[in-house]
Amino acid sequence: MFARLAFLLLPKDLFQGRPTERLLRVSGWTYLCGVVVSVVLFFIGHPQYDHRVHVISAAVFLLSYVSVRIGVIHYSWIKFGALWSLLEVIYITVHTGGINSPAMVWMSIIGVVAILFFNRVTTQISIVFLFSLYIFFYIAGQKGWIANEVSFAPESIAWAFTYKVSVMVMVLLGALATDWMYAHLLEEIDTHNKNLEETQQKILRAQSHKDEFIASIGHELRTPMNAILGFNGILRQELAANPADVQTVDLIKSSTQQLLQLVNNILDFSQLQANRVQLSHEKFLLSDLVNEVMAQYLPRAKQKSLRLVMDVKAVEGIWATGDKQRIKQILNNLTDNALKFTSQGQIDIRVLLLEGRVYFEVQDSGIGIPPEKQSQIFQRFEQANLETSRQYGGSGLGLAIADRLVKCMAGHIGVKSNGLRGATFWFSLPLPTERIANTKPSPSMHTHWSKEALRFLLVDDNAVNLMVAKLMLNKCFPHCQVTEVVSGQAALDALAQSPYDMVLMDVVMPDMDGPTVTQAIRHLQGVSYSNIPVMAITANTHPLDRERYLAAGMNDVIHKPLESDLMASKIAEVLTQQQEGATP
Ligand code: ADP
Repeated sequence: MFARLAFLLLPKDLFQGRPTERLLRVSGWTYLCGVVVSVVLFFIGHPQYDHRVHVISAAVFLLSYVSVRIGVIHYSWIKFGALWSLLEVIYITVHTGGINSPAMVWMSIIGVVAILFFNRVTTQISIVFLFSLYIFFYIAGQKGWIANEVSFAPESIAWAFTYKVSVMVMVLLGALATDWMYAHLLEEIDTHNKNLEETQQKILRAQSHKDEFIASIGHELRTPMNAILGFNGILRQELAANPADVQTVDLIKSSTQQLLQLVNNILDFSQLQANRVQLSHEKFLLSDLVNEVMAQYLPRAKQKSLRLVMDVKAVEGIWATGDKQRIKQILNNLTDNALKFTSQGQIDIRVLLLEGRVYFEVQDSGIGIPPEKQSQIFQRFEQANLETSRQYGGSGLGLAIADRLVKCMAGHIGVKSNGLRGATFWFSLPLPTERIANTKPSPSMHTHWSKEALRFLLVDDNAVNLMVAKLMLNKCFPHCQVTEVVSGQAALDALAQSPYDMVLMDVVMPDMDGPTVTQAIRHLQGVSYSNIPVMAITANTHPLDRERYLAAGMNDVIHKPLESDLMASKIAEVLTQQQEGATP
């Protein structure tokens, strides 16, 4: 009801525009009320003071109102109008009975006006001022400086009545104005919130388009780059006799690897940003993980005459469950940086168990990181300083990826460095761990399959690789039968001719690559082998590669260089899964 009344009584544009404009408009409108009250009081009359004061007030208020309405708005007008009202009220109070005067009622509402339209400091000042005025009128009355007598003449009673009613109406209108102002503010906040929500949705949509774009471009780029790397190896073997050609081939390889690393980083980062990274859970030996990292980085450490040392005594024989490839990726990024930023000395990779968490540490004796830069290097594209980035290269994504991966796994990551020499990067993960005396996983699974007369189809275009893989298969599965073929098409032909228990397939091959052959196998309708387990054999260890192979229909991945125990357990695992899936 209040809001409705306010709507009828108050001008519509009163609370529109910016806060300062509103304040000016409200003041202008208050002065208009002042004009009306002044005119009424002039005609009602009072014997104890000169009524012409109301004419002056009406003129001052009218001028203030007009100036606000025509847009000549200035705070000085408002302040002048307010000062004039105060002086007028003091003048009338002094002449109409001091502390007993009905005009004292105006004093009370000045504080309310300050609360409604001004800030807290102004309100406090005006309350102190009013209180002082009260004391002044009291003392002045007691001392006889001001006459305390109130006139009881009939026109004075009418005047007092008008005075009090006008005050009441002003207070009421003030309350209505505030009520309306809040309703209006709430409406505005609502509209703002809706606009913000719409903008947020648009940003999210744009973000997701960007992620999709990066993902599709990234995958498109990765496929040919992996092929270049694969063929590079073949080319290198063929040109082995000519050292100059080998050098060129190696240059192509290292440049492509760099490019692939960058694309992988961008893809990883965009997936992590979009929360699209899916973590796998596998059991792995912690020392194996570090061994694999060591094997990867030892040649580079040797090249730079650095000692790369691992310390896994504390986790010997301990199995952890988690996403081994992603943890390895974090450790790789840290080790890669340690090697990059160290020119002499030693790099230590340590793994410990601390308070139920697995704690990894990579300590180097390199250039160190100044303390003030240590938190910012975990943000994307951040490098400690431009000089180092120019000297050492890099995209500034490695640590950002490590940071987000660690957080995905509910872990913590950090760095310790005094900024002068050496840095120690660490991360801890809440991985379930167990100590198994016999370090072979599910030995019974492998033992079971090793007694079977399994038929393997081995697909690789490289004769040496075929030989190595066959030797290992024969060692792990003594009763097995291995058929070797050298191309994807030959594999499809072999599958059409005789039954196999598993295909072990190289990824990069000249005619059709491993994932394409697997897709062809999976899409063949009505053939008995479309369901056959296919194991990828590859040197590509990045988790994104694994995702691509699994998406093509491969069952699991064995990494080169082949390691017989790991190979046997993976094959046994996939065969068991296949058997369990086939048994209703
Ligand atoms: P980049 O690809 O530039 O190495 P990172 O995110 O891996 O990106 O690292 C970000 C920055 O952190 C680096 O540019 C470097 O300034 C600093 N940094 C990382 N690791 C080390 C380290 N072991 N020693 C000194 N500085 C390091």
